[in-house]
Amino acid sequence: MAGEATLRKRAVGKDTAAVGLDGVAVRFRTRNRDVTALRDISLDVAMGEFVALVGPSGCGKSTLLKLVAGLLQPSAGTVRLREEQVKGPRHDVGYVFQRAALLEWRSARRNILLQAEMRKMPAARARERADELITMTGLGGFEDAYPHELSGGMQQRVALCRALLHQPPVLLMDEPFGALDALTREQMNVELNRIWRETGTTVLLVTHSISEAVYLADRVVVMSPRPGTITEIIDVGLPAERDYAETMGRPEFREATDRIRGLLGAVSADG
Ligand code: ADP
Ligand code: MG
Repeated sequence: MAGEATLRKRAVGKDTAAVGLDGVAVRFRTRNRDVTALRDISLDVAMGEFVALVGPSGCGKSTLLKLVAGLLQPSAGTVRLREEQVKGPRHDVGYVFQRAALLEWRSARRNILLQAEMRKMPAARARERADELITMTGLGGFEDAYPHELSGGMQQRVALCRALLHQPPVLLMDEPFGALDALTREQMNVELNRIWRETGTTVLLVTHSISEAVYLADRVVVMSPRPGTITEIIDVGLPAERDYAETMGRPEFREATDRIRGLLGAVSADG
C-alpha cells in the first residue's frame, strides 16, 4: 500500500505516557460569574492508545483537549505531552473539529497542504505525505475538488488528512463526526480505526455517541456534569482491529456500552 514504509505502525508503548494530566482544574472567570469547567482531573494516556471522552454537554471535554494542545493553561495541576509539561501551544498535536473548516478557494490537496505551509515543512516531503494520506483516507480522485464539491464525510477526511500531515504523535478530535449522517459516520469510524492502527498515533476523541466511543477506543473516560470530573474509566477490552458488525455483536461491546449508558444516566441521545 502507498506509503506503508513511511507511516509509523501502531505500537503501544505502555510505559511512555503520550498525555498526562495531574490534578487538573480549570476555572473561567468572566465579568459576571466564575465557572469551574474541570476539577481534579488525572489521566494518563499511553503512546499509541485510543482514548474516548464522553460526558454531558458543558462538562469540559473541549476544555480538556485545549489543555493538551496548550491553547489553554490549567488553573491548578499540570498537563504533560510526551513527558514534557505543556506551557504554550504545541505543534506536536493534530486537531480535528466538528466542522471541517476548509478554505473554500483551495482544492482538497491544497487544504491538506495548508498544514505544511504553516509549519514550513519541506514542500516535496509534504506533497508525498499528502498523497499517502489521500490514498489512505480514500480521497483518491478528489484531490483537485473544492470543498463545495465534496460531501460532508469527504470534507471531514480532508480535515483529518490536514491534521495528520505533520505526523503528530497525538491526534485530538472534538466531535469530528457529529455533523455527519449515520451511515457516513459509521464508515468514518471504520476508517479511523484503520488509520489509527496504521499510523500508530495516540488519539483523544470527544464524542456524544456511546457506540462510537466503544467501537473506537481502548478506554472510554466517562465524565460527570460540570464541574467535569472523571466518573469512571472503562477498559473496552476489544482487539485493535475491529470489524464493525462483528464488534457490535460482541459481549465486550455490549457490556461497555451498557455500563457507560448507566453512568451517564441516559443523558446521551444517541449511541
Ligand atoms: P463540552 O465540550 O464538554 O461541552 P466545554 O469544555 O466547551 O464543554 O465547556 C465547559 C464549561 O466551561 C462550559 O460551562 C462553558 O460554558 C465554559 N467555558 C468554556 N470555555 C470558556 C471560556 N473561554 N470562558 C468562559 N467559560 C468557558
Ligand atoms: Mg465541546
